[in-house]
Amino acid sequence: TRKLTVITGASSGLGLNCAVALSKTGRHFVVMACRDVDKAKRVAKEMGMPDNSYVVMKLELGSLRSVRDFVFNLKAFKSARPVNNLICNAAVYRPTDPEPAWTDDGFEASMGINHFGHFLLANLLVDDMAKAKDARMCIVGSITGNTNTVGGGLVYPQADLGNLQGFQMGAKKPISMADGKPFFGAKAYKDSKVCNMMTVSELHRRYHASTGISFSSMYPGCIAETALFREKRQWFRKAFPWFMKYVTGGYVGQEEAGERLAQVVDDPQCAKSDVYWSWNGGAQQVGRWSSDGKPRGAGGSGGEIFENQQSDAVRDRSTAMKMWELSVKACEMT
Ligand code: NDP
Repeated sequence: TRKLTVITGASSGLGLNCAVALSKTGRHFVVMACRDVDKAKRVAKEMGMPDNSYVVMKLELGSLRSVRDFVFNLKAFKSARPVNNLICNAAVYRPTDPEPAWTDDGFEASMGINHFGHFLLANLLVDDMAKAKDARMCIVGSITGNTNTVGGGLVYPQADLGNLQGFQMGAKKPISMADGKPFFGAKAYKDSKVCNMMTVSELHRRYHASTGISFSSMYPGCIAETALFREKRQWFRKAFPWFMKYVTGGYVGQEEAGERLAQVVDDPQCAKSDVYWSWNGGAQQVGRWSSDGKPRGAGGSGGEIFENQQSDAVRDRSTAMKMWELSVKACEMT
């Protein structure tokens, strides 16, 4: 039987390409958890996903109600069968917004969607996934939340949760930033990614031994052509892929990035918990899977998977524990 694999934000970019890669292996039945159901159905068809390999279900991460409804609908759909894999991939990036946008619950949009929505979703699925063998949960991270790399450390602004004063004050309108300071869109995204990576480590510490679930994060490489950069100006969207490809060497195409994310839940060598997966070297020229669903194996000029180091900020246990407790409150989980 195929594994039941849930992917959030599977209607675009990394999530869509991951859904395509997994559906074509024949080893996964993919639940595409998307805010725009019609769009997801259309792009799944356009990308040639086999008809009986997926279903699209509504999930608006900017609404805690919607997250709970999604879990309810998912359980009804799958009946007793446990979820094998959860991939928290959806995100928004709003670097040019002068004012914060707010989610239904009153969270600043990037923190609300990228972190709080996924935080609740992950917690609501732990018990169910504990029933599956070799269950894996992956929350997509980023070097932008990683202060010890070029992309994360040198490029202004840096992620910084401070003492989580903003979370402590309730994390809701008019409070827009985790540290309680004035709104700064590019930083809000980076802060949310730090929370994503801290959530993975905390999930591991709290639940790995008792449930057997593997919790991981990953950095897919810079996928400079996705809609994530939709708010950037046209010249930037042309120059950025070129810059990443020829200057920093961190560029990765959407298809290969999707295969990398798929590898984290599909490859037996990625069963380990509490890992931040990354890929070294240049992008591979060929897909990781051939059309019959068999892995092609390592080859090409780079793209070898390895266990990366989290930054000190992400590994700071006392902030992570505080972040966890305040997120439980903000998501009204108690
Ligand atoms: P895209 O913008 O292409 O995809 C984001 C996805 O999230 C879309 O499917 C979008 O839906 C969905 N989404 C946005 N808001 C919500 C919401 N409120 N509720 C539910 N779903 C929502 O970006 P990418 O594919 O580039 O990003 C995917 C992940 O990769 C993110 O976690 C990002 O942080 C990470 N990442 C990306 C990098 C890059 O270089 N692009 C680098 C490092 C990490 P819709 O289709 O309706 O817009």
